[in-house]
Amino acid sequence: MPSTKDQLTKYEKIEAFVKGFKLSTLTYKRVMTLLNSEMKSGLTKQTNHVADIKMFPTFVRSLPDGTEKGEFLALDLGGTNFRVLLVKLHGSDVEIESKTYLIPQRIMLGTGKQLFDHIADCIGKFVKDHNIQGQKLPLGFTFSFPCKQEDLAAARLSKWTKGFRCEGVVGENICHLLHEALKRRTNCDVEIIAVVNDAVGTLMSAAHSDRNCEIGLILGTGCNACYMEDLDNVGLWEAADDDHPQQVIINTEWGAFGDNGCLDFIRTEYDRELDTYSINPGKQIMEKMISGMYMGEIVRLVLERLTMEGLLLHGADRECLLFERGKFYTKYVSEIESDHDEFFANTKQVLEELGIENFTTEDCKIVKYVCTLVSARAAFLAAAGLATLINKIGRKEMTIAVDGSLYRFHPRFHNLMCLKIQELIRPGQKFKLALSHDGSGKGAALVAAVAMRLRNIKGLKDVEVAA
Ligand code: ADP
Ligand code: MG
Repeated sequence: MPSTKDQLTKYEKIEAFVKGFKLSTLTYKRVMTLLNSEMKSGLTKQTNHVADIKMFPTFVRSLPDGTEKGEFLALDLGGTNFRVLLVKLHGSDVEIESKTYLIPQRIMLGTGKQLFDHIADCIGKFVKDHNIQGQKLPLGFTFSFPCKQEDLAAARLSKWTKGFRCEGVVGENICHLLHEALKRRTNCDVEIIAVVNDAVGTLMSAAHSDRNCEIGLILGTGCNACYMEDLDNVGLWEAADDDHPQQVIINTEWGAFGDNGCLDFIRTEYDRELDTYSINPGKQIMEKMISGMYMGEIVRLVLERLTMEGLLLHGADRECLLFERGKFYTKYVSEIESDHDEFFANTKQVLEELGIENFTTEDCKIVKYVCTLVSARAAFLAAAGLATLINKIGRKEMTIAVDGSLYRFHPRFHNLMCLKIQELIRPGQKFKLALSHDGSGKGAALVAAVAMRLRNIKGLKDVEVAA
């Protein structure tokens, strides 16, 4: 606590610049009510075209049952890293070999042809390096952007998010684009069996060993969630009746929550500034308040403001990285919040990396304070989203599978989320947040494996009918 009158006014001044991050439980409940009604409007056929939250049906109808077998290629595209994986499934045992490839910024902002040629080249290299050229390889493609799915292996891109903006892809079937690129650039015998979103992969991967798993959540470059929904509630479902279970995984794409302005009452001046300078202004409003691609920048904007107001870092040179957009990484937030004593070893290191030379222990304290406010708001908003889904599903007990570096590495995210979910769900409901391992690789392979199992069953039935 500040001791002198001067300090008190300083802390009061700081508080005025950050109080927008402190939201009451009542406010989170209001966010939940809004989210619930936006999700309903996304699920309803008559309103889906105007809804921000698209609630895409995925064509994934069954969770794995643990008997899935075989060798699969998987691709993981949709954020910070691009990976090719070889996934070997033998019942509950899973073996994964993977390699990460860089997608240079010029490709992220180039043409669709360049992007898919690059992906095909990486697959070609991977197949060669792993000596599996001769094999026919089924492929599960984790493509983590909003897509309107037309079949398990046909998905049209609705819009780019998260730093990607390749020309000529929106509205196209991305499986077709990949298929064409593979034909152009390699002679690998690859069959694209399924395209999934990383949230779906995360849910599938965890459901492989936990039958209570109903929700998948991503807290990485972006933020998104999916869940298993009854077909009766999915106004958009048009496929003919079949003998699959009467349910489907819905990819909510809730990162777009707030794009119509309904979250403006909780957005701060820092959220608005970040949005203005992003490559997709006005879009992905909820995602921009939560995910790893943006959190560091929000913190930076607050620190910059406090410094300009003379309340922080008097020794900071105006040329240093603190004043440059995008230079305060979200991993810094995790590092700073991992300081637990008055020595602030991590915080000091971060400030030094930013090129700030003269700082005091008090500066460190304030920097850490700002990080805790921004990350807690993110965790609480994600919790409000999950609580909305938990209440909607209404099961007594369920597991939520979570993946993404923000959840994995931030020291308090898991606990903050658990606390807030507990506060926001109906009494008597139980939940568990479980880290899902390799959702995008294992999950995509599992979707492909389940599809092939169902295809084989159908093949056998058709043979029986013909006979
Ligand atoms: P993706 O979502 O692209 O699959 P990740 O799950 O690895 O990839 O998430 C990447 C995001 O996580 C980046 O935006 C990055 O800023 C953030 N991130 C990376 N390391 C950490 C960390 N130690 N703490 C918090 N966030 C992190
Ligand atoms: Mg990922």
